[in-house]
Amino acid sequence: MAKTAPVYLDCNATMPLRPDAAETMLRVMQEPGNASAIHGFGRAARRHVEDARAAVANLAATSPAYVVFTSGATEANNIVLKTFAGEKIFTSAIEHPSVLEAAPDAVRIPVTPDGVIDLAVLERLLQAEKPDLISVMLVNNETGVIQPVADIVRMVRRLSPQTRIHTDAVQAAGRIGIDFSALQADYMTLSAHKMGGPQGAGAIIMAPGAKIEKLFHGGGQEKRQRPGTENVAAIAGFGVAAKIAQETMPEFQALSALRDALETRLKTLEPRLKIFGASAPRVSNTSQISLPGVPAETQLMALDLEGIAVSSGSACSSGTVKPSHVLKAMGASDSEALGAMRISMGWNTTPEDIDRFCAAWEKMHARIRDKIAA
Ligand code: PMP
Repeated sequence: MAKTAPVYLDCNATMPLRPDAAETMLRVMQEPGNASAIHGFGRAARRHVEDARAAVANLAATSPAYVVFTSGATEANNIVLKTFAGEKIFTSAIEHPSVLEAAPDAVRIPVTPDGVIDLAVLERLLQAEKPDLISVMLVNNETGVIQPVADIVRMVRRLSPQTRIHTDAVQAAGRIGIDFSALQADYMTLSAHKMGGPQGAGAIIMAPGAKIEKLFHGGGQEKRQRPGTENVAAIAGFGVAAKIAQETMPEFQALSALRDALETRLKTLEPRLKIFGASAPRVSNTSQISLPGVPAETQLMALDLEGIAVSSGSACSSGTVKPSHVLKAMGASDSEALGAMRISMGWNTTPEDIDRFCAAWEKMHARIRDKIAA
């Protein structure tokens, strides 16, 4: 009997590459032009970069002139946050490490138990001091909770008009509509591989007047903002993925039916199951669930043996498992946080994949149910 293909449900870590993006990249990679060269090959490479810039700008409802390509969102977040090094920065407590670790002294705005940035606390903080930069993500990568960034922008503009505003929109792009112009933020970061493009390409979107300090020094690429020969093939793949992500957003949003069915099925079988952010607005593809008392590694290994790939809500560094800072910020106990796993679907997830996940989860559950903390 043919072995069935594994089920990939870790799309918030990286989304499978769109075949059209792969095809474009393969073709572009075989063309020799440096996008700065003035001969025909160079101009062809430049065209690939500029077509991608237009597609990325279109996805974010902004002007191509505001898009600066980088090696990914980690670099983009670092550039923005480090521009304000030594100045007053507010971030939320649930940002990605590429924000938190780039601004270790930042004030961390708390979140509610549902994982939403606490607007009442932010208002008090802004009344007490005026930061130079505030950095708040549009969608959290672990829980999928959509953050009230438009409300935050309005509040910041009212209480602290000089503050620059950055939003990490990595997990929002292609999942919910993003409109950089309407949002009136100063900076936004994006990553290609969370929307079906390649790993190693990202962008900063910058409003006119917003400045960045370069991390690298060298050539004049990207209007002198980000030197280094452009990764033309990856940028071209990013452009294709951005265009498809925008065109297929309704299909992506329809994944919420699968997510809701999964959560209902698991919760019916196991009422002690914890679902994080369940009553907050969430993107359609993400479910962060926990079996308190059962280490996520045990759960992940059991599912992996059944050919199901999901991720844990915890971070493992140098051999020790630390509970997720996101779940801790939401008030989860260590046992809840260490028992958490994230299921994140993508453009190629099918109802059969979710059935197979649920069947494997049920099998695992039957074996470990006695270990679940009440
Ligand atoms: N921000 C968020 C919210 C993310 O989920 C990620 C990827 N895990 C990043 C930033 C970093 O993106 P990249 O992998 O492109 O460096």
